[in-house]
Amino acid sequence: MAFYGMYMSPLYLILVGPTLLFAAWAQIKVKWAYSHYSQILNSRRMTGAQAAADMLRREGVSDVTIEEVDGWLSDHYDPAAKALRLSPGVYSGQSVAAVGIACHEAGHALQHAGGYAALGIRSLLVPTAKLGSWLAFPLIFVGFWMHVAQLAMVGIILFGAVVVFQIITLPVEFNASSRAKDALQHNGILTRPEEIEGVNSVLNAAAMTYVAATLSAVAQLVYFALILSGNRRRD
Ligand SMILES: [Zn+2]
Repeated sequence: MAFYGMYMSPLYLILVGPTLLFAAWAQIKVKWAYSHYSQILNSRRMTGAQAAADMLRREGVSDVTIEEVDGWLSDHYDPAAKALRLSPGVYSGQSVAAVGIACHEAGHALQHAGGYAALGIRSLLVPTAKLGSWLAFPLIFVGFWMHVAQLAMVGIILFGAVVVFQIITLPVEFNASSRAKDALQHNGILTRPEEIEGVNSVLNAAAMTYVAATLSAVAQLVYFALILSGNRRRD
């Protein structure tokens, strides 16, 4: 099969199509939840940065810095620098969404400080996953296009490494969110039921984007593997 025809095949639409729709829906949902709950103030009027600092302090973690970075939903934890990088709306926002996202990132810092196993495995896989995301598609396309099955096979194996990375990311993300939800309630930052519901809605929507991306990657991996085995049978 010519490489340009790969994305037009009915098999691709049946296998990968639904996961792409699910991913688009998850993206819309997370944007909606963030926009909605960044309008609703938490009753303690705490900023995201304050809530994250409070969560880290209560857990006895004192060597993590909290910084503001540009961008929209660009929040992340940098393990190399031991820094929580929060977007402006999360850093200084006093909303339900701001404390939810800030404490999710603080959850990653606590995973790092506590030697959470899935985070350690994920960090080990970063170089392979990076290589895979650079090389997998070019190798797969060129391999199919020039009918060099070995090349396509190497590409598929590299893409498999990316899929493994995405799968191991899921428990890391779910765990950070459940740490955030627990801390926000235990530390008395969320009091009203609608605040708890808001944080759940934002963090669950964010988790759904990771699930959707993983499902989509698994579906593509299966698709490429089926094409490769089909080509081999014809050869
Ligand atoms: Zn996260």
